[in-house]
Amino acid sequence: MYIIMLGAPGSGKGTIGKEICKKYNLTHLSTGDIFRDEIKRDTDLGKKANEYISNGNLVPDDITISMVEDKLMELGDVLLDGFPRTINQAESLKKFLNQKEKSVTAVINLCIPDEDIIKRTSSRVICSNKECGATFNTIFMPPKVEGICDVCGSKLIVRDDDKPETIKERLNVYYKNTEPLISFYKKEGILETIDIDIYSNTTKEDTTEKAFQIIERRLK
Ligand code: ADP
Ligand code: ZN
Repeated sequence: MYIIMLGAPGSGKGTIGKEICKKYNLTHLSTGDIFRDEIKRDTDLGKKANEYISNGNLVPDDITISMVEDKLMELGDVLLDGFPRTINQAESLKKFLNQKEKSVTAVINLCIPDEDIIKRTSSRVICSNKECGATFNTIFMPPKVEGICDVCGSKLIVRDDDKPETIKERLNVYYKNTEPLISFYKKEGILETIDIDIYSNTTKEDTTEKAFQIIERRLK
């Protein structure tokens, strides 16, 4: 099974994606997490990726696509979080899966207003333990103990690219490069949209439940 999480920065792709992976036993493949890990380990790939990520830009397609395809070769059922992010990436993925006679079960598009994106990303904290990678929000989804991950007890940190200037640029990049994927996957007949509004009662649990229902329906 292949599930794609689509959505603007801070829409909850990682948070909801983790719940889906637990329930359906999928490997969580987050390109953002992979890049952050490479940056932390100061690898060649990390150095290159950081030039783009720190400015809120996308890492170039050739680097990203070959990195993801290498991982997909080794993995079974996968949830893709943060990939594809450009039409070019989506087309490569389609070709790659076609060759393996596989297809995407569902593209889950988390739709959230811009103001909420800014609010969410500017108060987001993530677990410093890369094996865990849980995400919290000091306002909207606080951890039980301030600064400590509920899941593994490690320290929570602010992501470098969650600075207000960088968030604005990431939003521009989202609208320019990633939003066109919505019509791409609509045409493919696999797009499923969940509307999110942090001021109504769409909690993490509500959204997770909606995502589960979509997958159940798609699996029939
Ligand atoms: P968010 O969805 O909150 O913006 P991610 O953790 O998914 O964050 O991604 C962080 C950054 O990593 C992106 O802003 C981008 O620079 C880079 N990145 C992640 N996935 C891709 C991708 N598929 N193609 C190009 N760059 C990517
Ligand atoms: Zn943790």
